[in-house]
This record gives sequence, C-alpha cells and structure tokens, in this order.
Amino acid sequence: MSFNVSVGLVDSGVKKGEDSYQLVIAGGGPAALSAALYAARYGIKHVVLESWKPGGQAALTAEIENYPGFSLIAGSDLTDAMKKQALQAGAVFHMETVETAVEKNDKILVKTDSAEYTTDYLIIATGAAPATLGVPGESKYYGRGVSFCATCDAPFFKNKRAIVVGGGDSAVKEALHLTHVVSELGLVHRRDKLRAEPFLATKLIEHKKVATYWNSHLAEVVGDDMGVTGVVLDTPEGKKHIDTDGVFLYVGTIPATEPFVSLVELDKKKAVLTRNIVGTSNPRVFAAGDVTNNGFRQVVTAVSEGARASAAVFDLIQNEE
Ligand SMILES: Cc1cc2nc3c(=O)[nH]c(=O)nc-3n(C[C@H](O)[C@H](O)[C@H](O)COP(=O)(O)OP(=O)(O)OC[C@H]3O[C@@H](n4cnc5c(N)ncnc54)[C@H](O)[C@@H]3O)c2cc1C
Repeated sequence: MSFNVSVGLVDSGVKKGEDSYQLVIAGGGPAALSAALYAARYGIKHVVLESWKPGGQAALTAEIENYPGFSLIAGSDLTDAMKKQALQAGAVFHMETVETAVEKNDKILVKTDSAEYTTDYLIIATGAAPATLGVPGESKYYGRGVSFCATCDAPFFKNKRAIVVGGGDSAVKEALHLTHVVSELGLVHRRDKLRAEPFLATKLIEHKKVATYWNSHLAEVVGDDMGVTGVVLDTPEGKKHIDTDGVFLYVGTIPATEPFVSLVELDKKKAVLTRNIVGTSNPRVFAAGDVTNNGFRQVVTAVSEGARASAAVFDLIQNEE
C-alpha cells in the first residue's frame, strides 16, 4: 500500500488564471453570449465567466415573441442557440461567479469564487436581478408562494389563485403565462394603467380569469406554515385582504454591479453609466445589456450592445499593435 503525501504550501483553493487574457466577459446572458461570439470571431483571447444561470433572464422567459427572426421562441431555446453558436466560433466559458474586479498594474484583476484572471479589457454583462418591495411576509414566504419567476414556478399553481404585482412588460408577459394554469389571477399595479406593450396589456386585462387592482400597492404577504394564504393591499378605498396561493413580483430589477463598484461609475440605480452606448468611465471597461443605464432592457438591445462592446475592444487591440 502506498500513500501520496504532499508537503509544502497548502493550496488556498484559489486557482490562478493560466495566464493573462485580452478580454474577460463577465456574465452569461444574451449580452455576454453575443460579446463572446464576436470576441471569438475576432480572435480575441478571452474567457466568459458566467454564474449559475446560463442564458440569464431570457432563459427564464417561457416565450419570446419580439426577437427578430422568431415569431415565438422559448427563451431557453434562444439562449441555448446563442451559446451553441458562440461555442462553435471558439468562445471559452467558465462557470464561475465574479466576486471583484480591480485595476492592477495597468491591467484588470478579476477574482471569482474559484480563480483569478488578469485581463487587458473587461466587458461587464452581468445583467440585473429582480427587485424586492421589502414588505412584511415577502422574504418569509419566498419559495413558499412568493416568486419572481412565473415561467419557473407556474406548474406549482395549477388551478390555484395567484397575484402578480407590477405593470411593465415582464409583469404582463408573466401574468399572461400564469393565466394558462391558475384558476384566478389578480393584477396589482400602482398606477391606473399598464406600462407594458399595449397588445399584451389589453390581452391580459380582458382575460376572463384576471381581476385588476389599480392604484394599489402590496402592503403585506400573509400565510401559515404551509405558505402564502393571502395578501393585504393598500388600495384607494383603504386596506383590502385578498385570498391567494401565490404572489409573483415584477417590480423592477437591480443591476448586478457589486463586483465592479471600484472600477466604473454607476448611476443612482446602480446601473453602469455608459457613454457611446457601451463605453464606461474606465477606458478598459465596457458594459452591455441590462447592467447598463441604457434603458431599453430587451434581448435585442442586450445582444446588440454585447456585439458593440467586443467590437470596441477589437478596435483598441488593433490600435495597440
Ligand atoms: C419575466 C421576463 C420576461 C422577459 N421577456 C422578454 C421578451 O419577451 N423579450 C425581450 O426581448 N426581453 C425580455 N425580457 C428581458 C430580457 O430577458 C433581458 O433584457 C435580457 O435577458 C438582458 O440580457 P443581459 O445579458 O443583459 O442580462 P441577464 O439576462 O440578466 O444575464 C446576466 C447574466 O449574468 C450572470 N451574472 C450575474 N452576476 C454575475 C457575476 N457576478 N459573475 C458571473 N455571472 C454573473 C447571471 O447569472 C446571468 O446569467 C424579459 C425579462 C423578464 C424578467
């Protein structure tokens, strides 16, 4: 019998990136996938660092009807195709979460949960996470009736009642998705009309399963040991209790910029402040998609910005040579 005994320095568990990269792309949604495709085709030495959710928010969307070329496609099919195309072009993906990115000796040092990378340029494409309201019961019942993803959780609400809070495109699309499974759907919105695409908004409001609560706010989520049993709303007529089994929240998003706070300027909502669409306050850092303050948060804009960001990096590399 033999034993392998290693002596010397104890491994900290942190792998060093093999060597220096020209470009690190942080994120794994449409913006990063498009940046990866272009980076690979330009022959830029790069790595894409994507977290646990490949495909990003788009992959969690049941149906996408407004991406040019497809009348209707499942979000995950679209992002799977994007990733396949990027891989075929030679894109390199590592499944790691970026924890910090800082400037070091004219380069950028990116630390993830398991490795470190040195790079000349960085594209921030980490998207955004759902915002919460912070009302009583919201976090207590998260996963037990409170959800941020109807596409993921709708099957748990078959023939049950649900409430959707929000009035934008995401809220309306996900509410429409829920109408296929739930028995009753309440739509709670703080204004007196929806901000969503009129075609979808009308379809939802006119749906026979849907009851609307205008100028109303979610005040509390109530429940028991089994999960959500109801909500309390602040309505123009005062507090109102509604029995429900589920609460789906679409009240905005928070850009995932925490790892990059020392690297680029952010706006008041924590989005990366851009100039010339994908440039940032740092000449070595670009940003694309929902993580930016560019506004129109859609797959088509995310992929366009991802492509532009890699093209901008390519131009800079060319000028250096
Ligand atoms: C419910 C819903 C429905 C929608 N429907 C449509 C629609 O019909 N049509 C449309 O065009 N758009 C739709 N959108 C919007 C669309 O999904 C987004 O605009 C698009 O996904 C943005 O892409 P992105 O790459 O910028 O960011 P995201 O899609 O948010 O991707 C960001 C990625 O970065 C990863 N990440 C985050 N932090 C880190 C980190 N620190 N390290 C590594 N990786 C990280 C995340 O895990 C994620 O994979 C919808 C969005 C929602 C929420």
